[in-house]
Amino acid sequence: MILLRKATDLRDYLLKTRLDGHSIGFVPTMGALHEGHLQLVRAAKEATDFLVTSIFINPTQFNDAADFRNYPVTIEADIRLLENAGVDILFYPSVEELYPTGTTELEHYELGQLEELLEGSSRPGHFQGVCQVMNRLLQAVQPNHLFMGQKDYQQCMVVKELIRQENLHIAFHPIPTVREQSGLAMSSRNRRLSQKELDDAGAIYQAMRTIDTTLQPGSTAAAIEHAKQTLEVHGFRVDYVSIADANTLEPVDEWNGHQKIAILVAAFIGPVRLIDNLLVTR
Ligand code: AMP
Repeated sequence: MILLRKATDLRDYLLKTRLDGHSIGFVPTMGALHEGHLQLVRAAKEATDFLVTSIFINPTQFNDAADFRNYPVTIEADIRLLENAGVDILFYPSVEELYPTGTTELEHYELGQLEELLEGSSRPGHFQGVCQVMNRLLQAVQPNHLFMGQKDYQQCMVVKELIRQENLHIAFHPIPTVREQSGLAMSSRNRRLSQKELDDAGAIYQAMRTIDTTLQPGSTAAAIEHAKQTLEVHGFRVDYVSIADANTLEPVDEWNGHQKIAILVAAFIGPVRLIDNLLVTR
């Protein structure tokens, strides 16, 4: 694996790869890698000839300074994991490399409703930061294929919209969420939880599964209320539980039994905010 810190070095290297006719896959991450990230890497290895992964904790997407400060960093272990997984290039830029003119007064993206719902409204500016960093990374890597986790359901929608707006020719591959045995979605932020909190955190998946298996056509209000109570009993402070249209994320108050819906949850346990989602399959 080659480690590159400069976008120009990356572009030079990849130019040759592209001229050789190889397809380029890209897996962007913020590091503190776990099995969920490695699943993306495996999918990308299988589907492409040459694999670039990035590690960059993007300051512009954190709306909470403490969350940014406390974001876990395990770079040495990450490098070993990526090398063993067969990644060809690790792009590991500095903040100055990606934001040479600073991290304020950056470009603005029109994301419409996506920025007003769920993560958009709970984390003001978050998706602007996601677009700002993803556009820079995609310009540097220019991949043919991009692999991202369905765990961040709304982020997948935002990045697909960015690809559309910027007219990029990139195939987007959403990868299913990898979970602990308890059902807890793997996340770098889980490293900040105590054993007790980790045990309790499985309640997010249980609450979503209960909705998935018991929801009947009609009002969704009682199912949402029940899920909130389950989470609170397990020590969560709930930000939102939403039953939403899977394509627009608009809340579904009355379900007709056919509309494709997703259950989306954000909740705090201790100091950590976790998000998760589940597509209702019926
Ligand atoms: P992050 O490092 O948290 O920014 O995540 C990097 C990529 O890994 C994103 O596309 C995430 O959606 C994805 N990801 C994070 N956790 C998981 C998981 N448990 N299962 C699958 N993908 C994940």
